[in-house]
Amino acid sequence: MTKSNVTRASRAKTGGKSSVEPCACCGFAPDPNGRPFSITFEQPDVIDQIEPELLDVWGGDPFMAIKDVGFFVRVLMPIKLDNGWSIDFGTWLEVHADDFREAWKTWNFPEYKDLQMDGYIGNEVAPWERFPHALVKAAVRDLDQVPYLVSSEDETFTKLLTGAWPHAEVLSKYAELLKSEPPQN
Ligand SMILES: [Zn+2]
Repeated sequence: MTKSNVTRASRAKTGGKSSVEPCACCGFAPDPNGRPFSITFEQPDVIDQIEPELLDVWGGDPFMAIKDVGFFVRVLMPIKLDNGWSIDFGTWLEVHADDFREAWKTWNFPEYKDLQMDGYIGNEVAPWERFPHALVKAAVRDLDQVPYLVSSEDETFTKLLTGAWPHAEVLSKYAELLKSEPPQN
């Protein structure tokens, strides 16, 4: 993970003074409306591994094709935390060309609700870092959101998507991004 690739970008209203008390154990404050934290990886990690003169990219967010590498679609990885909070990680799914075209065609149409794709996660996400090279399924949960990672036949991903992770450990990796209070002076 490179720091510059990660932001708190979200389409939802954010900012302002927190109406909730920070957690006593870790000092993080939950979203006042109980929404998941948003942490977004701006691009697939592989982009940083390609010499700029060899990098040939079509598209952008949410559809990115990288010549001689593959096809990537923006997805959300929903992670539950042990204190009831959650994080939606914006990441990328490397998919088959056919699924990429299908996603592109249906994205803004009613058929979007039935979109399903299997692919490989395109980012190393702290604190898990490198994931196994195994397929993860993405499906549409909300017509106004990009597809969510929902399941996998791989045990690591099943645990990732169904478990409740130690919140302080996960959030501390993103402490800089998640600081909610403005500077005092
Ligand atoms: Zn805490």
